[in-house]
Amino acid sequence: MSDEPNDDRVTAPEVSAAEILRVDDDHFAPESVCIVTGGGSGIGRATALAMAGNGLTVAATDVDAEGLAGTVDRAEEVGVEGEVHTVEADLSEDEEVEAIVEAAAEMGEVRYLANVAGLQHIDPIDEFPMETYDLMHRVMLRAPIYLSKLVVPHVRATDDGVGAVGNMASVHGHYVTHDKVAYNVAKFGIRGLTQSLAAEGGGDLRAFSLSTGYVKTPLVTNQIPDTAEQRGISVDEVVEDVMLGQSRTKEMMDPVDVANLFVFGFSEHAQHLNGGDLLFDGGMTLTYD
Ligand code: NAD
Repeated sequence: MSDEPNDDRVTAPEVSAAEILRVDDDHFAPESVCIVTGGGSGIGRATALAMAGNGLTVAATDVDAEGLAGTVDRAEEVGVEGEVHTVEADLSEDEEVEAIVEAAAEMGEVRYLANVAGLQHIDPIDEFPMETYDLMHRVMLRAPIYLSKLVVPHVRATDDGVGAVGNMASVHGHYVTHDKVAYNVAKFGIRGLTQSLAAEGGGDLRAFSLSTGYVKTPLVTNQIPDTAEQRGISVDEVVEDVMLGQSRTKEMMDPVDVANLFVFGFSEHAQHLNGGDLLFDGGMTLTYD
């Protein structure tokens, strides 16, 4: 079909063992648990595999049970050192958010939380469905706040209180484009959560956010046809002009590239990364022609 993406720039690649950044850190050990939301797909799956590849125990959570099973399969194929456990949960439900942290605490010492899960909806503000806004808010902002609230006491209960919350933001947490109001608001908000955690974390409990441009995941590939329709252009034009048009790096990131930033951000090498944002956008927001 002529209106379908026709090259591998929009195909979501799987993580391989060789691509995982390995970091020497005393806390990267089986007794340390890292909760990863959105662990059934894209960046969340890659982050779960990368943290397990560094020897941690991972609590991968997602509403998509099939996706989680795929993550476990991939963990076996890659041969990651740490265990990947799954917790099926809907982040829009408080009780299910609570169950994630309870399950993770059974696996070891909860020190790390990667808030990755997200969803997109494209509509102008004057037509934006408020029930969709509410869902996106619950999944992308309220759940990260509630998970942080529940994880902080676990980090503080460890012998040295070392731990971190990593939040997946976006270039849309820095500047925005039209028809994505709920997404934009959520991404600006997650940076506020990051800085609030840094303000209250006391130094050993850190927080950071990651802001990337487009990453080759189903979230991106699924929105390309909608964006094409909204703008009245072809799918190829969306990829070349809209997504990569303002980026100096003319390739989308792979999910593992983002996962490796979580590995670094959680590690002791990032001791002074606290409240800060890792802007890895290929020059997208800081340059123009
Ligand atoms: P994805 O669609 O591949 O994965 C998102 C995951 O979130 C899915 O597995 C989905 O099931 C899960 N999820 C959605 N609603 C949920 C709910 N109610 N409860 C539990 N889980 C739920 O997307 P991705 O591209 O990997 O995106 C992950 C994060 O990265 C998002 O926060 C997104 O905004 C952000 N991000 C993505 C890109 C990109 O280009 N892909 C760029 C910048 C930021």
